[in-house]
Amino acid sequence: MAVRLPGQRDTIRVRRRVEVTGLVQGVGFRPYVYREAKKRSLYGWVLNNKYGVVVEIEGPVAAVDEFLTELRHCPLRLACISDIRCTNQEPVGDETFLIRESAGEGEGVIRIPADVAVCPHCRADVQSLENRRYHYPFTNCTDCGPRYTIIESVPYDRNQTTMSQFTMCEECTYEYLEPLDRRFHAQPNACPKCGPQAVLQDGQGETVAGYWRENALSFLKAGHILAVKGLGGFHLACDANNPDAVELLRSRKGRPARPFAVMCRNIDLVRRHCNLNETEEILLNSPESPIVVLRRRSDSLLPGGLAPGSGTLGVMIPYTPLHFLLFDDQLEMLVMTSGNESGLPLVKDSEEALRGLGHVADFFLTHDRPIHRRCDDSLLQVVEGEPCMLRRSRGYVPTPLPVPVPRQSPQVFAAGGDYKNTFCLLKDGFAYLGPHIGDLAYAETRQVHLVAAKELGEMLEVHPTVVAFDHHPGYYSSVLARQQQLRDSQPVWHHHAHLASCMGENMLTGPVIGVICDGTGYGQDGTIWGGEVLSGDYRDFQREYHLEPVPIPGGEGAVRYPWRMAASYLWHCLGEEGITLAAALFPDRDREINLLHKMLEHDFNSPLASSCGRLYDTVAALLGVCRENTYDGQAPMELAEVALGCEREAYPFSIEGKILTCKRLIHGIAADLRQGRDVGDIAASFEKTVVEMFAAAAERVRQQTGLNRVVLSGGSFQNPYLLTALRARLRLLGFQIFTHKLIPANDGGLALGQALVAVWRRSDN
Ligand code: ZN
Ligand code: ZN
Ligand code: FE
Repeated sequence: MAVRLPGQRDTIRVRRRVEVTGLVQGVGFRPYVYREAKKRSLYGWVLNNKYGVVVEIEGPVAAVDEFLTELRHCPLRLACISDIRCTNQEPVGDETFLIRESAGEGEGVIRIPADVAVCPHCRADVQSLENRRYHYPFTNCTDCGPRYTIIESVPYDRNQTTMSQFTMCEECTYEYLEPLDRRFHAQPNACPKCGPQAVLQDGQGETVAGYWRENALSFLKAGHILAVKGLGGFHLACDANNPDAVELLRSRKGRPARPFAVMCRNIDLVRRHCNLNETEEILLNSPESPIVVLRRRSDSLLPGGLAPGSGTLGVMIPYTPLHFLLFDDQLEMLVMTSGNESGLPLVKDSEEALRGLGHVADFFLTHDRPIHRRCDDSLLQVVEGEPCMLRRSRGYVPTPLPVPVPRQSPQVFAAGGDYKNTFCLLKDGFAYLGPHIGDLAYAETRQVHLVAAKELGEMLEVHPTVVAFDHHPGYYSSVLARQQQLRDSQPVWHHHAHLASCMGENMLTGPVIGVICDGTGYGQDGTIWGGEVLSGDYRDFQREYHLEPVPIPGGEGAVRYPWRMAASYLWHCLGEEGITLAAALFPDRDREINLLHKMLEHDFNSPLASSCGRLYDTVAALLGVCRENTYDGQAPMELAEVALGCEREAYPFSIEGKILTCKRLIHGIAADLRQGRDVGDIAASFEKTVVEMFAAAAERVRQQTGLNRVVLSGGSFQNPYLLTALRARLRLLGFQIFTHKLIPANDGGLALGQALVAVWRRSDN
């Protein structure tokens, strides 16, 4: 096996074959192997195959061992090694080390890389006066840069990206071809000489004279609003420290209260305004570079208008060199909110921006590297030290997630729901979730949904035979999915999909108890569900317990005005006395309450809902915390804010049959209001009651079924208090608890559940 090299008496020459699996393709792994081999004067080759990377390495045993140790501690930013397998080979006497052409490409798992935030090396290049990329906004390398948003087709090669129109200059070509260079095979490689250029335009699309950066900085400092073309679309930007600019943006965008995300010059500045733990810092600095929801420090002097009624702030740090260049010593934080008209898709083209954002932005910072597909910023929060995804998009899409599927299962397309829409493709045990698309009530968003799903399917060579969608007969997503006329149409119940989604991300297969809390989902009896305790698995489920159904007078319209829901609960729980109380609590709504009363009495346009979201709305309205929901989740968020640090003692409640009744809860709140108890304490007691109710129901299901595993899913679990407190309560009762981390608990995670339900049902036949 081992031979002595002539002239190197003490050096035994060996050869090893190394098979590396994991996330090792498209991350600069081969050049890294090449560099490490060259450094040690080792011979052999490296190539990509369908399972990962294969290396054959030959040389003196000590050097080979050292090389293998290096590989095990691979420092590459984007690589994630799951396994390294080593076998001994007969030395063949190679005299070079080569990067070989890939073997058998096109057969294996196709990977489309996600967009990657600017790496520390490129940031240094952009900052260094001597570097030829000084202040160049499109600097990137093998470790960083645009990917998913510029890829037009696979395999991922420059000529199949929106960079194909730029011809690399001599220096860039050298970097691209030189295995020892950081930009070896960096497809979007560019420099000021040969690459895309930024340009600053006014509202008429005329270029503003002068250097774009200087102009942009001075306009931002002067309180103007800029539309900025980034990686996956436009942002609307203004100086976050300037309250007038923030208010101007709010009024022009027609967005009175929904929190704005901000971009902060660096981590130290983030720390000055927000509490930051280790996990949050890692997330902010990660290659995915999401927006992280942080708790604001009480001594921060940032304008309250950034996130009215909220003690938190969504923060990100500059993730492209262009963003990085939007800051200087006097600009430390920018509002960076999605550049779209309310409800419509993110704007991605420059002409589209002038048209669609012209009424909001004073100036347009744009560039000539086209965005092929939209991708919103991702959003996460850290709860009890663990990241929880709220919106999975840029940086994460389209990275596949391993999920449990039966043997030989068909490929599936799942359409998702109508709100926070994402779709999901399922193939060979991997789920590919699409980007955040938004609300399908708009024709434009539906178009984006269709195109994005079709393109991703084509690129990943997914050919679904099964299509899954929500049972809701009126969902656009379901109508569109049915129109695909695939062989196998599988409608899935909304809350079953939530349950399956949480099971899937936790790799569970057996039956579980599911506590599913959200705002709205179409239930099996045609009413609206949303406070459900289920039992089941992928194939089937039982509705074991649920919140008491209460009419929503006026249907969906009541969602916007929580006081309507409050009046309905009061009437439902306290009868005529409740209506009197409602009139007293909402004196300016006198007439409307009368009307509402009649609607309820005659059961007119008042569908029943067992919704957790509507119960939170009700209590927020009763306590005068939130009178109008101007964005999804406003009432529960504001309620949680007033309840922070308050006295918690659960209200009494009862379980009658399968129903978690709210009468005693509403009675209790009404009595406390009359006695003038502190609003924060009432809110805290309410939150505690919800936890106790669902824990009690889960306990009963355990006694009836013997199940001990609980999954928590549905949009209400974005509320950190509900998540933490219910988890703690269930843990105390000895349950095994599973929650969402990688995919959203809200309807953004629905598609994954739909896909899994469909694939497991299919395998029965
Ligand atoms: Zn880089
Ligand atoms: Zn160049
Ligand atoms: Fe839902």
